[in-house]
Amino acid sequence: MLAAMSLPPATVPPANEAPGQAPSRRARGRDDACPGALRLHPADDGSLARVRIPGGLLTAGQALALARVSEELGDGRLDLTSRGNLQLRGLDAACGGELAAALRDAGLLPSDRHDRVRNIVASPLSGLDGGGHGDVTVWARELDAALCAGAWDELSGLSGRFLFAMDDGRGDVAALGADVTLIATPDGGAVLRVGSGAPEAGLEVRGRDAPRAAALAAVEFLARARASGTGAWRVRELPARHAVTADGLAARFADEGVEAVRTGRGGPVDAPGAPPAPGVVSGPDGRHAVSVLVPLGRVGAAPWRLLAGLASRGGSGELRVTPWRGVVLPGFTADDAAAASREVADAGLVTDPGSPWAGVGACTGRPGCAKSLADVRAHATRAVADAPRSPGAPPPVPVYFSGCERRCGHPGGRWVDALATSGTDYRLTVRGTREPDGATEVTAERLADAVATTRGTA
Ligand code: SF4
Repeated sequence: MLAAMSLPPATVPPANEAPGQAPSRRARGRDDACPGALRLHPADDGSLARVRIPGGLLTAGQALALARVSEELGDGRLDLTSRGNLQLRGLDAACGGELAAALRDAGLLPSDRHDRVRNIVASPLSGLDGGGHGDVTVWARELDAALCAGAWDELSGLSGRFLFAMDDGRGDVAALGADVTLIATPDGGAVLRVGSGAPEAGLEVRGRDAPRAAALAAVEFLARARASGTGAWRVRELPARHAVTADGLAARFADEGVEAVRTGRGGPVDAPGAPPAPGVVSGPDGRHAVSVLVPLGRVGAAPWRLLAGLASRGGSGELRVTPWRGVVLPGFTADDAAAASREVADAGLVTDPGSPWAGVGACTGRPGCAKSLADVRAHATRAVADAPRSPGAPPPVPVYFSGCERRCGHPGGRWVDALATSGTDYRLTVRGTREPDGATEVTAERLADAVATTRGTA
């Protein structure tokens, strides 16, 4: 008999949901308000659209289309999100029809009904650097195709916050607290995990069944959410007596012809893998990828076009948007990768692994978000500019600047929380431990040193 899966809270809250907040178990009588390509969100700097990029996978042509749309309909910039999606800001509230048509033409809106449920992250270096077990971007594409084709009709009813993760075994996206995670195994199979359960609670499936198993796990979640009467949006919101169990999953898999066995192997889920560092990444096939960090996740149309152009000129024609506000360009020769890396750096993006931008993030803050107490992006930029340099030091823990306690898009694992408490004051706290470490109050003028100290000692 298979035992019940353990489903403790995930480490990363859904966007727009405060960390540390008890999961909501009240019945939700409404749809979630997550923005999408068809559902614009009113913000202080105009309307906002979120374009889902399953697996972070974009063609150069799609990237160019997004640059065009951002200039013609938005503020000429793109925001990279903590789920590897892209946001357009500064839109006219009435541009929805034009925006949707442009995205459909580019293949970025394959199914209106499934627009907001295509939340799939994948290990960005999968199949490129020899660091994992195979290329899980294949699973991301298959799962997305199945979702959009309506293979399981009820999945169009998933919340826009529900997240699938495809991890190639290195443990990077497995650490993001997804609702359904597939972790590749050395023998070509996959461990399927629901919620952030303990590794020993995993089910192992064949690699070719993995995308279907992930979709069926989401179907099982929806059935449990319905039965619980809570209308839960995420796995961790299910009451314990309605939790997704390995027994329930195995029965559903059997009905659909998916073989699954209980396994003690959960992949490297107990040791979160590092996100791709900026710079040139070499692969076992002699090809090279350029890993680019986008400071604070916001990029103008011109440097974005440069990335698309490099992808189509020297690279494979593909861009991979990462959940850590970066982009990976695969498929270069060593010389072309080095030249592309220099060109990207000249355009203001980061390809230096020792850059002080590494591990620094911020929410939208003022003036884009009415809830923000401060211009956190300006303060973060100033803190980076003033940061004391320590060449050769290991990368410090991430720091995330938030304009209010919602802390939208903050990182997982251990991180430094720089929370604005007024327009000029911050509270620094180390998070990602069982109990947050003691707080340091600091003014914006003294942020750089205080952040560096806290990151170095965290
Ligand atoms: S201030 Fe930042 S954390 Fe707060 S709601 Fe706005 S974007 Fe989210």
